[in-house]
Amino acid sequence: MTENNKKGRLFIVTAPSGAGKTSLVKALVELCPEIKISISHTTRQPREGEREGIEYYFVNNEAFDYLKNKDEFLESAECHGAQYGTAMAPVKSTLKMGTDIILEIDYQGALNVKKIFSEAVSIFIIPPSMAVLKERLEGRGQNSKADIKVRLAAAKEEISHLEKFDYVIINNKFEKALSDLKSVFKDSPESKNLETKKQKRIFQSLIDSIK
Ligand code: 5GP
Repeated sequence: MTENNKKGRLFIVTAPSGAGKTSLVKALVELCPEIKISISHTTRQPREGEREGIEYYFVNNEAFDYLKNKDEFLESAECHGAQYGTAMAPVKSTLKMGTDIILEIDYQGALNVKKIFSEAVSIFIIPPSMAVLKERLEGRGQNSKADIKVRLAAAKEEISHLEKFDYVIINNKFEKALSDLKSVFKDSPESKNLETKKQKRIFQSLIDSIK
């Protein structure tokens, strides 16, 4: 394969709700505009400021099921009571064009994508502690108390799967987490220290705290 028909790389970024994944990915793409973000389909209602075809394709259950039954999704999963799915065609065509693409999806989707694209690079972003995660969810003022409870319970389940990911990034200080994320995308030598097996000592205390 020559440099000109080199395939793009597929990245998967997963994190519990409130860990800062969306802001980090947005900042990464500002630094590296050559990377594309995949736009998922969802059956959840748009939040204030979210636009059709930018943050998500917002569809009803019938439309989602129709696409799912036609095998249009690379993966799909239910999260926090709504359905989410990644359309296969745009991912394949982006990779074929030689462009890198990021899927911002939950851990179930991430593990399913890895089964199909074993060369995909998976990154799990965690908060420094569950207390910080709770503070962040409360601080963003987007979620009700009941919803925050559901998201914190889901976070425990999600974090229990992090050892299946290639890299773990701790979002304690935003700028540091962003530079870590960038080093994984650039495949720079610093990214070696972010490999899951190297990060174990650090994330083990988070895992222990939620057992
Ligand atoms: P939110 O509703 O807060 O935007 O997203 C809720 C969760 O769904 C997040 O963990 C997000 O990463 C995940 N998600 C978004 N799009 C997809 C998708 O296409 N597939 C899967 N499996 N999860 C998704």
